[in-house]
Amino acid sequence: MIMVSACLAGKPVRYNGTAATDTVIEQLIAERKAISVCPELLGGFLTPREPAEIIGGSGYDVLDGTAKVVEYSGADVTDRYIEGAARTLAIAKANNVDLVVLKENSPSCGSSFIYDGTFQGHKQAAAGVTTAMFRRAGIRVISEADMEKEIMKQGIGNI
Ligand code: SF4
Repeated sequence: MIMVSACLAGKPVRYNGTAATDTVIEQLIAERKAISVCPELLGGFLTPREPAEIIGGSGYDVLDGTAKVVEYSGADVTDRYIEGAARTLAIAKANNVDLVVLKENSPSCGSSFIYDGTFQGHKQAAAGVTTAMFRRAGIRVISEADMEKEIMKQGIGNI
């Protein structure tokens, strides 16, 4: 089973109330090859919500207690991000998920890039909290862009 970010599946759950719909992912959901989740909603957040970024490192550093997730107004929401990641991982394990496609640049879902904690629109090469937790559990995580590249190379049935 494939797990995907809910916003990529067309659900308007991003912090600003929008989706980031990807037609290939919508197709995977329609064909019942994928399930969708939003780690931030599972962490107890609502939509819309304040934007948040990781300050002081990557999602791995958040899990290790050396970085934190902070909202634009300054509130420390680290614990809720970790809780959302843990709940997402539990759902993945219960559904025998072996591939996860998560939305790039999110402090939860980013797999290659996240924003750098300055709220200035600058990105850094790092993974978000949910991606870090999944990778430590041995589950493969890629972005929507990675998925498109793999489909171009080997077809949707082989990603
Ligand atoms: Fe999308 Fe992930 Fe952000 Fe939820 S936490 S809105 S699934 S990028």
